Formats: sequence, C-alpha cells, structure tokens
Amino acid sequence: MNFQLDFFSLKGKTALVTGARTGIGQAIAVGMAASGAHVILVGHQNNMQETQEEITKVGGKFDTYLIDLSDVENLRGKIQPLLKKHEINILVNNAGIIYREPAAQHPEDEWNRVMNVNVNAVFTLCQEVGNQMIQNGSGKIVNIASLLSFQGGINVPSYTASKHAVAGLTKALANEWAAKNIQVNAIAPGYISTNNTEALRNDETRSTAILERIPAGRWGQSEDIAGAAVFLASKASDYVTGHVLVVDGGWMGR
Ligand code: NAP
Repeated sequence: MNFQLDFFSLKGKTALVTGARTGIGQAIAVGMAASGAHVILVGHQNNMQETQEEITKVGGKFDTYLIDLSDVENLRGKIQPLLKKHEINILVNNAGIIYREPAAQHPEDEWNRVMNVNVNAVFTLCQEVGNQMIQNGSGKIVNIASLLSFQGGINVPSYTASKHAVAGLTKALANEWAAKNIQVNAIAPGYISTNNTEALRNDETRSTAILERIPAGRWGQSEDIAGAAVFLASKASDYVTGHVLVVDGGWMGR
C-alpha cells in the first residue's frame, strides 16, 4: 500500500486560476497557495490586491496577469507569453459571468458575451495550456461548472447553455487526454454567496425558496469550493477524470 498525506499537497506545482480577484476564484487561489502551489492569478480588473494579501498571509507565492477573457480573438496572443514564462501544472477555469433575462427577450450580444467568457475562453485556455501539459506529460484541469450544468435555471438561458457546455467539454477533454496523464474535471458549485448570486440574495422570494431547498440549511461560502479544487488538482485524484463534482450542501440529492 502506498498512500501518503503528501498526495494532497500542491508543493512544487504552478496553478493558473482565472477570475481570481473575487469569490470562488479567490478562495481557490488562496486554497491552492496554502497547499503549496505557486499561483498565477488571472483577472481583468486592476485590483487583485485582496487576493494577493490573502496569499501572502498563508505564505504563498503569486504572479498576476490582467487578461480580458471576453476578447477571445486576442486570447491566444496574450496567453502564449505567459506560457513561455511559466510551466502550468494546474489550470482552473473559474472566471464566468451571468446575464439574467428571459429567453424571449435575451439580447444576442449578451448571449455572445456569456458564451465568450464562459465557454470560448475556457476552450482556448484548455487548448493552449493543455498543449503545454501534453508536452510535459502531466496536468490537471479543473473547470467551474454549475448546478445549471444539470438543470435549466430560471431566466438565465445563456448561462445554462454555457455551463452545460463546460460539463460537456470537461468530459470530451478527459476522454482525449486521460492517456496523456492529464485529468480534466469540473466542480459544480451550489448556491454560493458571491457577486454572481447577489441579485438572487436580494430577491426575498427567490432567496427563501433557494434556502428552503438546501439540506445544509445555508448558502455556500467560496471557501466551501476550495477543498474540492485542491483535491482535483492533487495527486490524490490521479484516477479521477471526466467527473463533475457537485459541491452544493445537498441540493442535487433532494
Ligand atoms: P464573481 O465573484 O462574479 O467572480 C467572477 C470572476 O470572473 C471575477 O473575478 C471576474 O474578474 C472574472 N471575470 C468575469 N469576466 C471576465 C473577463 N472578461 N475576463 C477575465 N475575468 C473575468 O462570481 P463567482 O460566483 O465567484 O463566480 C466564479 C465561477 O463560479 C463562475 O464561473 C460562476 O459561473 C461559477 N458559479 C458560481 C456559483 C455561485 O453560486 N456563486 C454557482 C455555480 C457556478 P474581475 O473581478 O477581474 O472582473
């Protein structure tokens, strides 16, 4: 039997986390830094200070890159210099946006914006970083999906379509790259208290209905997602691939 606690450690690894300025991405970045990884923080607003300070507090190391992931046409040109400087062992595609408007009125430009950030940029990053991982003979990719990778949601058709695509892409890449020692998984967070869900929490009726359905009896916190991400980025999950791990306080089991 060969099992060590060390298998959960990310020591010596470099992790690229998108959307690391706030919410779930921030918690994952700090969690990975606390687990020993050097973290490459990617965001598009010039204010990553809080995440940087949290990483410093846990004794971690980071680099920061500002890249607008909605500008998919120029994304390869921005990511390639980063890949020349850093060998990425772990890619976390966390950045994502939501637009709330019923399908009958959903504007086409918002549909395209959501698809660009939530799907097209995710594919481009998986391809660019994945090719480096293939050359290096190993890698871990963790995509952030959603409960709306399984359910329809209410008034968020572009978001739901994008998150179904994230789950599908995760499985497709896992199939192709398992033999190359690259594990590709996703996390489907439940209802987590972040900017993404602010509108829901401000809507008393929706907020009460959501809370009543969560067996754990509380909204999730961003930190609730970090442990699952560290596991999926670590050696401890080497035989896990193509999985969408629900972290939802029991919502989907109800
Ligand atoms: P959040 O605080 O709004 O985080 C979204 C992050 O995405 C931000 O840090 C933002 O970066 C980044 N981002 C948005 N547009 C970008 C762009 N064009 N270029 C680069 N970065 C961009 O919300 P969150 O809840 O933590 O969301 C993180 C992920 O979890 C998303 O994929 C979301 O769909 C998913 N999710 C959330 C929940 C939930 O309940 N909260 C549930 C299921 C799935 P800037 O700050 O620099 O703008």
